[in-house]
Amino acid sequence: MLSTDTISDAIEEYGIRLLPNDLINKIAAGEVIERPASAVKELVENSIDAGATKIEIIMRNGGRTFISVTDNGCGMSKRDLVLAVERHATSKLPTDNLDSISTLGFRGEALPSIGAVSRLTIKTRSKKMDTGWSINVTGGDIEAVVPSSLKIGTQVEIRDLFYATPARLKFLKTDRTETGRTIEMIRRIAMVNPNISFTLNDGTRTNIRFNGAQGNLPNIQLSRIGEVLGRDFEENSVLIEAEREGFILTGYAGLPTLNKRTSSHQFLFVNGRSVQDKLLYGAVRAAYSDFLAYDRHPFVVLFLNAPGSTLDVNVHPAKSEVRFQEPGLVRGLIIGALKKALLEAGYQTSSTISNAALGILNKSISKISPTGVRSSGQSYKTHEPSQNNYLPSSFANSEIAYGHLDLNSAPMARTDSPSHQSSESLNEIASFPLGAAQAQLHKNYIVAQTNEGLVIVDQHAAHERLVYEKMKIDLKEGGIKRQVLLIPEVVDLEHVKIQKLLELKNDFARLGLILEKFGEGAILVREIPSILGDINVKNLIIDIVDELEEFGSSTVLEDKLGHICGTIACHSSVRSGRTLRVEEMNALLREMEATPHSGQCNHGRPTYVELKLSDIEKLFGRR
Ligand code: ADP
Ligand code: MG
Repeated sequence: MLSTDTISDAIEEYGIRLLPNDLINKIAAGEVIERPASAVKELVENSIDAGATKIEIIMRNGGRTFISVTDNGCGMSKRDLVLAVERHATSKLPTDNLDSISTLGFRGEALPSIGAVSRLTIKTRSKKMDTGWSINVTGGDIEAVVPSSLKIGTQVEIRDLFYATPARLKFLKTDRTETGRTIEMIRRIAMVNPNISFTLNDGTRTNIRFNGAQGNLPNIQLSRIGEVLGRDFEENSVLIEAEREGFILTGYAGLPTLNKRTSSHQFLFVNGRSVQDKLLYGAVRAAYSDFLAYDRHPFVVLFLNAPGSTLDVNVHPAKSEVRFQEPGLVRGLIIGALKKALLEAGYQTSSTISNAALGILNKSISKISPTGVRSSGQSYKTHEPSQNNYLPSSFANSEIAYGHLDLNSAPMARTDSPSHQSSESLNEIASFPLGAAQAQLHKNYIVAQTNEGLVIVDQHAAHERLVYEKMKIDLKEGGIKRQVLLIPEVVDLEHVKIQKLLELKNDFARLGLILEKFGEGAILVREIPSILGDINVKNLIIDIVDELEEFGSSTVLEDKLGHICGTIACHSSVRSGRTLRVEEMNALLREMEATPHSGQCNHGRPTYVELKLSDIEKLFGRR
């Protein structure tokens, strides 16, 4: 590091100087224009601010050699065009008030920044003018404005982006990657602007074509989202609508079973701006925490409208972050709205799962030759155990009792075996969403007939979910019922882990677990939740300790309790693998229909798959 003396010597020798404008612009460009996608973003946002309803983007070589953005917006006068390429010149802050920004731009930095690092041409014509005007900026050198013929609107062309800052050029990835990032960014912007037409051509083909729609916003927004994200999302998401103290949240929440491997399927917008915001991601994660495994992520599109005065959008030069005056309120609004919507979605499971199932069935059918022998020559084993690797291996053979769920409270089939079911009662029961149980296969899969097709239920996963939901209700109503162990279980554990468990002793009591210290290196379990029945207590405690470690100390206790309920429920479900009578199966189905979130187990895996008759007919080539 330089000493203070050396620095002051240097200042004395060379003097402090104001940096020349083009250098300032290059420095600013370093922050605003990171890559071709960010240049396109700035231009497209300018077009949106100009009221365009049609925006055409062309890029060549990933945007390296050529980018053009053409719009049919309001255009600029000759005077405005000259000012537009000057730093800090903007038409968007007429009142000097940073608190009430309603446009996407406001910093007046994008065009001069782009002009500093590329060869920029802007052609524009406003409604009031008979002719258009054009200006060139090359590596920061601004040329004189000249007349140019043009329809109303603006066309911005960027050639040789970053030619004036070769260091930045070196950081660009392949053409494909840069084009890909630009497409991703435009898709986001398109979701929040369904009234605008967008096209993007990468020099060889048109990658994006969205037609602008007119009409009521929620409707056109949903169809645009469907266009951008695909029908799977449209069909497997629920509408979000919530309001709190002037904050309005709308959007769509994907069903938990539509979960993804990364968080890149979370599209969050604040006041029409796509943002990457930790607070918002955190709220989404918390809302889904009950339904998804730790390493899975939900699929959501959320639009938050915040009163201007409660929000700071001037946090980052690229404007992709925002700051809220009341983060707690925003977090609460998002978590509350998502949880409520998911609750109302009830036992729904995503249709992508049935489609996936159909895909698999289709494949296996095409592999079987007419003689029932696989085309490879192997004989076809009909009794192969299920490929479901989520099931504990001991499970399939376990004959332990079903559990303490009330199997008698729900409407049931009136007869013992499906073959005796009268067609009248079958019809009646089949009209329930999960239908009338017809068979149990491999001691775990319930096959039920519905009016529209059939349902296959994973008894193990369903049971786990039902136990979990019941525990959560009990927990809310003052505590989970306990059963005293005839012989208390001693579990050996490391000292730190014992400490951790004992710190939360009272909370565990609410969860139905009575723990005591037992000498230096062990813990004594006296009582367990009665819903669990006869389980391996030691394994349960070890799982809970692991769970606690994974959380660290930051998570709110309520969240922790929820997760621990999940862990406990998981242990209970080992007991579900026994042969069920028809009444019991039907009771389970009715219980699932009545239980929120029963469409997926605690890890976001589905508890049932539905196949429509029309799908089955397709499978057999009848359609
Ligand atoms: P900002 O968007 O922050 O104001 P820019 O450098 O992106 O800064 O643009 C400067 C100004 O140029 C804008 O305020 C606007 O008046 C004008 N402008 C830029 N692009 C367009 C366009 N496509 N149509 C009309 N006016 C534009
Ligand atoms: Mg701008």
